[in-house]
Amino acid sequence: MANRNIVEANLEAVKELTSSGAGTLKKCFQCATCSVVCPLSSDTKPFPRKEMIYAQWGLMDRLVGNPDIWLCHQCNDCSLHCPRGAKPGDVLAAVRRYSFTKYAFPKFMGKLLGDAKNLPYLLAVPIIIMIILLASIGHLNIPEGKIVFSKFFPLIYVDALFITVSMLAMISAGMGILNFWKDMNKNSNIWMPSMGLIPSIISAATEIFGHNKFKDCGVNKDRYSAHLLVFYGFVGLFITTNIVLVLVDFFHIETPYSLINPVKILGNVSGIALFIGITLVALNRLKNKDIITTTSYDWAFIGMIYALVITGILTEVTRLAGIAFLAYLIYFIHLVVVFYIIAYLPYSKLGHLLYRTVAVVYSKYSGRRSEERRVGKECKSRWSPEH
Ligand code: SF4
Ligand code: SF4
Repeated sequence: MANRNIVEANLEAVKELTSSGAGTLKKCFQCATCSVVCPLSSDTKPFPRKEMIYAQWGLMDRLVGNPDIWLCHQCNDCSLHCPRGAKPGDVLAAVRRYSFTKYAFPKFMGKLLGDAKNLPYLLAVPIIIMIILLASIGHLNIPEGKIVFSKFFPLIYVDALFITVSMLAMISAGMGILNFWKDMNKNSNIWMPSMGLIPSIISAATEIFGHNKFKDCGVNKDRYSAHLLVFYGFVGLFITTNIVLVLVDFFHIETPYSLINPVKILGNVSGIALFIGITLVALNRLKNKDIITTTSYDWAFIGMIYALVITGILTEVTRLAGIAFLAYLIYFIHLVVVFYIIAYLPYSKLGHLLYRTVAVVYSKYSGRRSEERRVGKECKSRWSPEH
């Protein structure tokens, strides 16, 4: 008798996917239109039709260690052309969220961050930690005189807190990514990498810094500039923070800096870029709401980015206006938001960037990306959003 493969549906996983943005999943009738239009699809690795049936059956072991899930940049060309309205772009976004829970380290953090209802508890953590820290050094009051934030929260404590939090986030992200890499390796059985690891990393970094893949988007082509602004806004703020750290800790050049100081200009320009970028992201989602589902998880992330930028701007404005109580209060809130973004990065939408980068590196390393480039171009020439 021939060997039989018995496939068991995982209904729990299906339920989890449908409740996190993949509510249209069961509409798919496997016509493969999505695999024809997707710029990632190739002759030998068509995508995402088979991923749709894996998701319908809840076969998550075939999905979570699959780099294609992360190579998908949610252009939603597939969702536009799907004749059943099954929204494969949304389904893949839900699979990525599910993967976060699987790779999260520690696991409960993935679950906590996966549900926007937990936002108040997650925000309470930095609030409590910082209040205890300020109380223990006797700084739980509004300092007298000129507004200088280090009089309220001494920089040595700010540095110690945020360096610790950053290191913990890096360890968590590193553990998740290591397990993701192992799963991708297990699923693809590469015995001969097509490219060395270092050239793969360089090539992936070039692609990500240039946001080249976003230029392939049809329906969602506005995402290119929106994501570019968000990405470089964060890069600029990261560089600014580190320059300030070096200037204060190593050269003893104390803050605040004047508005025409190059470091200040870099910080302000990056903040404005982030504000414009996240506004374009939100508008783009609202404009395409029939094709893209925006979950409370997505809105929570957008809200936190707004909170970061707005509290950053108001901190500066109230300091310049000399309104001490408001300036120190908003500075405190700003630090809470920064803590939230850094500490929960491995489990949030920002963590997607890490997983996507690793998936792009892996796909180049394994030769997946060269097939896609060859065949994807042919598919693009056959289809356009007008068809
Ligand atoms: S998701 Fe839509 S386009 Fe893709 S196979 Fe299913 S029904 Fe067809
Ligand atoms: S959203 Fe775009 S990249 Fe992702 S599967 Fe659909 S067509 Fe492909």
